[in-house]
Amino acid sequence: MTVRRLLLPLPLLLVLGACGDDAGNGDDTAGGADGGDAGLQVIASFYPLQWLTEQVAGEHAEVTMLTSPGADPHDLELTPQAVGSVGSADLVVYSAGMQAAVDDAVSSQAQDSSLDVAPSADLLTAEEEGHEGESEEEHAEHDHGPEDPHFWLDPVRYGQVGEVIAERLGELDPEHAEDYTANAADVVAELGALDEELSTGLATCESRDLVTTHEAFGYLAARYDLHQMGITGISPESEPSPARLAEVSSQVEELGVSTVYAEPILTDAIASTIARETGTTVLTLDPLEGLTDASAGEDYLEVMRANLDSLRDGLGCS
Ligand SMILES: [Zn+2]
Repeated sequence: MTVRRLLLPLPLLLVLGACGDDAGNGDDTAGGADGGDAGLQVIASFYPLQWLTEQVAGEHAEVTMLTSPGADPHDLELTPQAVGSVGSADLVVYSAGMQAAVDDAVSSQAQDSSLDVAPSADLLTAEEEGHEGESEEEHAEHDHGPEDPHFWLDPVRYGQVGEVIAERLGELDPEHAEDYTANAADVVAELGALDEELSTGLATCESRDLVTTHEAFGYLAARYDLHQMGITGISPESEPSPARLAEVSSQVEELGVSTVYAEPILTDAIASTIARETGTTVLTLDPLEGLTDASAGEDYLEVMRANLDSLRDGLGCS
């Protein structure tokens, strides 16, 4: 099945300044080498880093994004202009291991003007993400691949990253360091409230088995004591074989779950296939890798709350 490849334009070309909220900022972002009155020019590699950096920077930076809304950040390709913009930004906020093209651009253009948030996000491999509750046999089913990059789906890890972004912005712009620290404290508090809601909302559920297509919810599952079964793996590239689909269908039937979760952007043929074969329902769970008109909210917090509603629905939480 080549669902993603068929639906997404390739290569994904970048137009700086055309990203969501920043649409009005236009050309002044692309070449902004020395900031000036506009404050710091910061590039975030994909949506969760953009949102978080904007919260922390407030009015003191202009934050643009390398991944177009609606595009799959995992297989981002960068135009030469985009690579150039990486070189001229005051800071590039990215997460090593998430996007190979960004890793390359940073290592050639922005070694000293980049912040890799991965260390502060405390990344784990899928193997480490709290599979204690499973039998050996179940555990052996998981893909024990590289580290899972989807830390932002755990509000606690996401908050840690916000504090590190504030520190770095404060070093670059000491005059506003206190603002960055205070903004980070605000966003950590908001994320703490979200964490509470998730904790409470997912405390008592008929099922704790979370069947997803793209295996993006490992940190969320670990935080709230759910068991994620991903169909396509950590990177949505890897498409399941017919044998894998049949295996997943039989696991879904064994688990007795009522819901298979799909992403909002695509009409998820994989989830629909599994659901049809197992008599389950497809609900949406948004990995928040981009924000589009299809998103169930205007920003990270709103979409996460929509995710909570969807989880409570599908898992039968009281
Ligand atoms: Zn992903």
